[in-house]
Amino acid sequence: MSESNCDHDIDLEKLVRGQYEAENRPSENEVGGRVPDFGYNVLNREGLLYEPIVDREHLSSGGEKPNWPNDADFAVCLTHDVDEVSLYSARQEVRNTVSKIRHRRSTGQAMKDLIKGGMRTIRKTRKRQDPIHCYERWLEAEEKVDAKSTFFFMPEQTNKPHETDSDYRFSDTVIFDGEQYTVAEMIREIDARGWEIGLHPTWNTYDDVEELKFQKGQLEDVVGHKIVSVRQHYLHYDVTKTPRVHAKAGFKYDSTLGFNDNIGFRFGTSYPWNIYDLENNEKLQILEIPLIIQDGAMLRSNRGLRLNEELAYDYMLRLIENVREVGGVLTLLWHPSYIHKEPWWRLFSKTLNYLSEQDIWIGSLQDIGSKWSNKTPLRNIP
Ligand SMILES: [Zn+2]
Repeated sequence: MSESNCDHDIDLEKLVRGQYEAENRPSENEVGGRVPDFGYNVLNREGLLYEPIVDREHLSSGGEKPNWPNDADFAVCLTHDVDEVSLYSARQEVRNTVSKIRHRRSTGQAMKDLIKGGMRTIRKTRKRQDPIHCYERWLEAEEKVDAKSTFFFMPEQTNKPHETDSDYRFSDTVIFDGEQYTVAEMIREIDARGWEIGLHPTWNTYDDVEELKFQKGQLEDVVGHKIVSVRQHYLHYDVTKTPRVHAKAGFKYDSTLGFNDNIGFRFGTSYPWNIYDLENNEKLQILEIPLIIQDGAMLRSNRGLRLNEELAYDYMLRLIENVREVGGVLTLLWHPSYIHKEPWWRLFSKTLNYLSEQDIWIGSLQDIGSKWSNKTPLRNIP
């Protein structure tokens, strides 16, 4: 691929294959057991995080813009990671505390966790109306603009526990559409209404096919059909291992490759691509639909960009324009567990309204993925 007309030294083929990431990302142990984020990305160091440089190069070297239905300018993929189902569940708080204590090495710290967990449980049982028990609001907002998203749910069991695992069970109860449902019933209802259910697997699945299959099977038992889409919890993903694990577990679409603390194009592209297996030097049959913007990266107050609502909207408009210019896919993630935070919900509604006035094609991960695979000729990148 030609590097002409570019004012950077990035090898785009190497970028999309994940080789820069494999070379530059430190191990979790080197960054305190956390997921390394945008600071280690080669594009950030070059000041190119918000630029879809791969897509621009594709177009400037004679490649065609992707074809979207109705000749839309670009596509929007809407997603939600369901990390928690309730804010005020005492049962979930007890499970959460037990899990934390199990992962503590010191007895002193375990005691502190136990006391804190006990206090939280007492506070939570006093509350009545759970402010995130209004999942129907996401469906209603999306239905108004003729959109259906992907909801990524976590499994309820794991053989390889980690302190970030979910604390909900499929038998827990929630209020949905004004009525009491179990989580399993709500998942089936969302599925039956035509939204997509994807898997949000736990931290320790990123390198373990059997564990990932085990978790996928749990959600498939709930919905009664195959699950094809995945996004790793905490975006915990190793580019040298996870693509192969996803493919072997039978997924077709992944949308993990974005950032927790920033927004932008982690691999320099808004176009879906067949992810590369670096060990076996081959393209896999799993399509990566990269995550471009998530709510928490912009709006959390203690990490990430820490933007206010207005500035977050300005950042988003800039990325929307960049995706429009290349006719790519703008993948958005909004967490249902933050619906009680008004600026977060307002930003979602405002963005959805703005997008609905543009010439877009909007859908779930599966919608976008199947359209891309069937109708758009795959680029010669990588
Ligand atoms: Zn998550």
